[in-house]
Amino acid sequence: MAEIVCIGELLVDILAAEVGQSLRAPGTLLGPYPSGAPAIFADQAALLGAKVALIATIGDDDFGEAGLARLRRDGVETRAIRKVRDATTGVAFAAYAPDGSRQFIFHMAEAAPGRLTREDVDPALFADCRFLHVMGSSLFSAGMIEVIRHAATLARNAGAGLSFDPNVRPSLLTRPGVADAIREMAREAEILLPSAEDLAFLLPGRSPESAIEELLATSPQLQCVFLKRGAKGSLYAERGRMVPVPPYPAREVDPTGAGDCAGATFLVGRLRGWPLDETLRLANAAGALAVSARGPMEGNSPEAKLGAFIAETAPLPLSE
Ligand code: ATP
Ligand code: MG
Repeated sequence: MAEIVCIGELLVDILAAEVGQSLRAPGTLLGPYPSGAPAIFADQAALLGAKVALIATIGDDDFGEAGLARLRRDGVETRAIRKVRDATTGVAFAAYAPDGSRQFIFHMAEAAPGRLTREDVDPALFADCRFLHVMGSSLFSAGMIEVIRHAATLARNAGAGLSFDPNVRPSLLTRPGVADAIREMAREAEILLPSAEDLAFLLPGRSPESAIEELLATSPQLQCVFLKRGAKGSLYAERGRMVPVPPYPAREVDPTGAGDCAGATFLVGRLRGWPLDETLRLANAAGALAVSARGPMEGNSPEAKLGAFIAETAPLPLSE
């Protein structure tokens, strides 16, 4: 049985080969790479030895098989991944602009990921669950919001906490109910794993630190926040304490998935009771290794690889 349950989209990513390449014109595309934020998170948690299950829907096609095979190889419990016969596996097309911003085209709501139903959420999955992990990017339709809320209720009833990464994707925010659902789940979580952009969405006009203080002051069940700061590293916060964590050096090839990978490493470290400073180092190392590989799951790392990396790599100085 699973100590961490993840729910949402299992996709493949198709990536523009060149920085600055447009998705409006022909060009070289690379992939399929197994992807989907909850799947990346589940895969990294499994690589660290956690018992983790993913609830998801895929098509009966090779893209779905690619994702399923990867998760199985890495030890994710895949029994709750259902093959939908009359829909195709979700796809995200991604291109990177020279300023580091990303453009996505998602085939999700109208593809297999949008077919998830309450029946896919087996209450037995939560028997030994410590955390349900939810990604804001999975709250992409009224149907998904309903199913994920149902999973959150089952998790709560089983005594599990909610780990939430708002993972805001502007192209999905305009859909009815999505923005409110992300705000609500952020207010209910025990563990919050945002980026600075996510915090700016949740509490506009504030610095990340002030937004975190506000969240900790007004959400009594919130235990801690792990703020992901890209090439600047991360910041850990709990009531009365903020700990900036320096980044490791990395040659950024593909930033997508680093947050999911770092967040999963943080959650597993917390579940395992690893010392906080070591958990934070390992989470940043996981993120640094993730950005160094093309493909959102290709840079996921088992514990031994993370340990070797932090043993031989000095962190960079902290920057503002
Ligand atoms: P995504 O939503 O695309 O998965 P995110 O915004 O949630 O990303 P990031 O902050 O980009 O998450 O990455 C997570 C962690 O990975 C960071 O906190 C940092 O420790 C590490 N990291 C990310 N980018 C770099 C980089 N260029 N160099 C070194 N470390 C990095
Ligand atoms: Mg993210």
